[in-house]
Amino acid sequence: MKRDLTSSKFKIILGISSLIILMLAFLLLSFIPYCKRSTLISVTCFDHAIFLTILINVLLVLIWIGLGKVVGILVSVISFSFICLSFAKLQIEYKLYFAVPFFITSLIGFLMSKKFFNLEQKFIITKQKIEEDINLLNNDIEEGEKDILLLNSRLQRYRNLSGVIERLSSTLEEDELTALIADIVFKVSKKSDRCLMFKVDTEKQELELVSSVKKTGVLSSINKKGDVFDRWVFWKKQPLLVSKAKNDFRFLVTDEDMHGTLSSIISVPIMSKEKVLGMLRLDSCRDDNYTQEDLRLLDIMGEIFSVYFVNAMLYKRLEELAITDGLTGLFVNKYFKERLLFEVKRSRKTNDLFSLAIMDIDNFKSYNDKYGHMAGDIVIKHIAKILKETVEGTDIVSRYGGEEFAILFPGRKKEETIKILEAIRKKLSTSPIVLRRQDTHITVSIGLAVFPEDADGSDKLFRNADRMLYKAKETGKNKICSL
Ligand code: GH3
Ligand code: MG
Ligand code: MG
Repeated sequence: MKRDLTSSKFKIILGISSLIILMLAFLLLSFIPYCKRSTLISVTCFDHAIFLTILINVLLVLIWIGLGKVVGILVSVISFSFICLSFAKLQIEYKLYFAVPFFITSLIGFLMSKKFFNLEQKFIITKQKIEEDINLLNNDIEEGEKDILLLNSRLQRYRNLSGVIERLSSTLEEDELTALIADIVFKVSKKSDRCLMFKVDTEKQELELVSSVKKTGVLSSINKKGDVFDRWVFWKKQPLLVSKAKNDFRFLVTDEDMHGTLSSIISVPIMSKEKVLGMLRLDSCRDDNYTQEDLRLLDIMGEIFSVYFVNAMLYKRLEELAITDGLTGLFVNKYFKERLLFEVKRSRKTNDLFSLAIMDIDNFKSYNDKYGHMAGDIVIKHIAKILKETVEGTDIVSRYGGEEFAILFPGRKKEETIKILEAIRKKLSTSPIVLRRQDTHITVSIGLAVFPEDADGSDKLFRNADRMLYKAKETGKNKICSL
C-alpha cells in the first residue's frame, strides 16, 4: 500500500530529532565524571535525575512513534544499557527508579507506535478513497463538459433548421423544392461528400433521382434509379446507417453500388401516411463518418420536408388537374388554345413552322346508341391512350370537345405530320375494342393545317383545320384531309 509521504516525513523528522536530543542528553551525561553522576543522582540533584529520566522516556516514546518498532527497541536497549552502566554503583532501589519507568515507557512507545501505524493506515485508506471520489467527480465534470459542447452543437444545428423552414416556404414548385432540400441537407450536415434526394414513382413503384449536391471531384457516378441501399430504405420504410459499405453484412454490394469510394451512408425515407414519397441520403468517402445523432437529425429533417414535399406534390397535381382532362389525362381545350397562341407567336419569332390536326370519331352517336354511353367513354379513353403512345413528348394532345381531339406538332412539316396521323388512324381502325365480349372497331377523321403556310393567325389556322375535318367527313370518313 502506498504510504502517505507527508505524514511519514513528519514522523521521521520527529523520530530523528528525538534521537539527536537523546544522544545529546547521553553525551552530556558522559561528560560528567562518574562520581559526580552518582552524587548528582543520589544526593544533590535527585529531582533533576528524575526530570532527566522523564525526558529520556518521552524522547524514547517519540523515537518509537517516529522511527518504528525496530529502531525503538534498539534505542531502548542501548539507552537502558547505558543508564545501567552509568549508574552501576547505585543502590538497587535507585536503579529501579530508572528501570521501571523505562520499561513502562518502552511498552507505551510500542503500543503507541502500533496505534499510530493503524491510524496512519486508516488515514491513507480514507485519503485514497477521497482521491478516488475526486477522480470520479472530475471524470463526471469532463463528461458533463463534453455533453454541453454536444448540446451546443445540436442547438446550433436545430437553430439552422428553423432558418431553413423559412427558405422552404418560399416555393411550391416541386423541382425547385427538391433542389433546395438537397442543398439544405448537404449544408447542414457539413461532413458529407454528397447528398441525394429521390422521389417515388408511385405507378411503377420505382425510385427516381430528383436532385443531388456533391463536393467536386468525389462520388461522380450516381445510380438514378437508386442502389441496393436505397432499395433497402424504400422497402423497409426505415432509416439506414452504414458505417463501412463494403463490410456491411446486410447488403450484397456490387462495384456499381460503391460509386467508386463510397463508404458511409445515412438515409431516411420521406413518408406521408405510411407511404414512402421519397428519400434523403447523405454519402461520405470516409469510414464511420456518421453517428446515430446524425441519422436522427436527418430523420427530423425528412419529417419536416415531407410536409413541404406533399404540398408541392399536391400543388403540381392541382396544376395538372387544371390543365388536364379527368377522363383521358389529355390537355383541356382552354390550355390547348393558350398553347396554340404561344406556338403562333414562337413560330413568328423563329420562322419555325408547326402543324395543327383536329380529329373526330366517326359515327360516334350510333356507337353510343348501340353500346351505351359508358362504352363510348371507354372508346374515348382508348383513343387517348393510342394518341399518347404515338406522338412525341413535345407534341401537345388535347381533348378539345366531347369526342373531338386537337393535336399540335411543333416544328413538324405537313408530310411528316401526315405520316404520324396516318399511323394513328391505322392503329385506331385496326385495334379492336372489346365490348360485351364483342370486338368492336371505330374510325376517325382528321383535318390538318400548317402554320404559316395554310394560315397567318391562330383562328384562321383552326378554322382551316376544322374545314379539312369536315371535308374528310363529307368525303367518306376514316381519312386525313389537308389544304
Ligand atoms: P360524325 O361521324 O359525323 O362525327 O358522326 P357522329 O355521330 O360522331 O356525330 P358527332 O361528331 O356530332 O358526335 C356527337 C356525339 O358524340 C354525341 C354524343 O353521343 C357523343 N359524345 C360526345 N361527347 C361524348 C362523351 O364525352 N362521351 C360519350 N360516350 N359520348 C359523347
Ligand atoms: Mg363531333
Ligand atoms: Mg363524330
